[in-house]
Amino acid sequence: MEFYRKPVVEERPADAYCAACDTPMTGDEAALNYKLVDKKTAHILCPACLGKKLELSPETLREMITLFRKQGCTLFSPWVEE
Ligand SMILES: [Zn+2]
Repeated sequence: MEFYRKPVVEERPADAYCAACDTPMTGDEAALNYKLVDKKTAHILCPACLGKKLELSPETLREMITLFRKQGCTLFSPWVEE
């Protein structure tokens, strides 16, 4: 499916859609909006759009998701060590 851009965190299904470009994203990617923008924001952005807004690279956002998961932040899915 051409229109479906892979979520940053691939093991989770898309459960939110970008308010700007309609890209499906994972709960973890959506949670990053709550963490970095506003806990109550309804304007959820995908990593590409969020990165543009905050001037952060998608790689940085991906690292942030991993970090918050490892910290056990309850907004994110639990980190499972391999
Ligand atoms: Zn977007």
